[in-house]
Amino acid sequence: MITLRNYQDKKVGVFGLAKAGTATVTSLLAGGADIFVWDDKEDSRKTFLKQFVEGKTKLADPKSWPWKDLDVLVISPGVPLTHPEPHYTVKLAKEAGVRVIGDIELLCEAQPLTPKIGITGTNGKSTTTSLIAHILKTAGRKIEVGGNLGTPALALAPQGNDGCYVLELSSYQLDLLSTSHFNTAILLNVTPDHIDRHGSMEGYVAAKAHIFERQNKNDVALVSIDDDYSRSVYSGLKQTSKARLVGVSVTHDLKQGIFVDKEGVLHDKLNPEQPAVINLHDIANLTGRHNWQNAAFAYGACRLHGLSPRDIEKGLKSFPGLRHRLQMVATIQSVRFINDSKATNADATSHALAPFGCIYWIVGGKPKEGGILPLTAFFPNVMHAFLIGEAENAFAATLEGRIPYTRCGTLARAFEAAAQKAFAERKPGAVVLLSPACASFDQWKSFEERGDAFCAMAEKLLDKVITGKH
Ligand code: ADP
Repeated sequence: MITLRNYQDKKVGVFGLAKAGTATVTSLLAGGADIFVWDDKEDSRKTFLKQFVEGKTKLADPKSWPWKDLDVLVISPGVPLTHPEPHYTVKLAKEAGVRVIGDIELLCEAQPLTPKIGITGTNGKSTTTSLIAHILKTAGRKIEVGGNLGTPALALAPQGNDGCYVLELSSYQLDLLSTSHFNTAILLNVTPDHIDRHGSMEGYVAAKAHIFERQNKNDVALVSIDDDYSRSVYSGLKQTSKARLVGVSVTHDLKQGIFVDKEGVLHDKLNPEQPAVINLHDIANLTGRHNWQNAAFAYGACRLHGLSPRDIEKGLKSFPGLRHRLQMVATIQSVRFINDSKATNADATSHALAPFGCIYWIVGGKPKEGGILPLTAFFPNVMHAFLIGEAENAFAATLEGRIPYTRCGTLARAFEAAAQKAFAERKPGAVVLLSPACASFDQWKSFEERGDAFCAMAEKLLDKVITGKH
């Protein structure tokens, strides 16, 4: 936990009492601040009251806070700063001339000497953040990982200048930075998303580009040049940034920077004197071009943090992957069982269907608009589809005459049928893949619960095979 001594005896407002807000209050309390807190959700207020006693923290409606005396307002990333319109606490702060920030800014203020690697992008943030943390840890470096992923920033341990923070950052969190900067900043990719919260695509791209603000000549900016939006950020930085600017591509061969070629070979062209290559193609937990993009950025961040190409290769190869994202669960009789439960829309599922040639596909749940029609280009990779959940009828209609399918209703029946068929057909490279392209809420509490159930089924089956009961 970070102790926020800068705010001793100062009055601070904290709005939003979920994970990050609660960690903020804990850190401010440890530093001796006077804190005014609120959350519009009654449940969050009740949970808060169970954890904190009134004293230095006062749970009170923000309209009654002493705004003129507040030093700063800390809001959770979920609270609108500008769009669709500023939250009422933001308006009150602006009227009183109070600074509005988030927890990442507080971490940076409290730990100015510790190097920070910041990761943002529309997709792949969690994977890249975890991958960088894993590589650095494997190489014996002292790191703390969190932010938008897992542990909130202020619940991380304090570090000296020999440690490093690896931080996943959402565009909302980036909007709330005001004085801090990252020693290494990564922009993975930008595709249309969250436009409601940023007003326009320009607003969203601008929020992402905040990650490069205030970088100096000792800092590094790693930027994708594969999509138009990221490329425009790259061009802008070329004009304005003092940082070392590194382009990263998985679609073009580059003379400088880092790229992954068609065969999945990563080329390090950071320094013409020390070129390096790493074959990503055979790394089980980094399957697919999208993961090669994540790996290329992780490589760049770690290399520029002083690791050797061989140390990085070791870390890439031993990366256990993230749960529910193309997670390799087990290989049984040469059939790989893969949990991609996080793929809750067609776009995410496209990344799961693209890299495999022989798929027994478990798909369905609570459907999203457009269903699986956008995935038709990948249907040749699918041997058979096993349909589950509310989407059954709609998906059966899309698949009719295109690929064979079976209506299974539940995940358990789909798992059984897919495994049996894959074992019976004995095709090389067969995978039983849960990549639902749907939300889970028709049958599960969350995509995690759905994915855990799939993993448990695969592990049970593996046990049976090992003990000879299959
Ligand atoms: P985020 O934290 O940005 O949501 P994750 O690493 O959790 O990203 O991955 C979420 C889903 O996004 C994965 O299941 C995968 O399908 C897809 N994905 C991962 N990395 C990328 C990438 N670099 N480009 C596009 N899609 C990706």
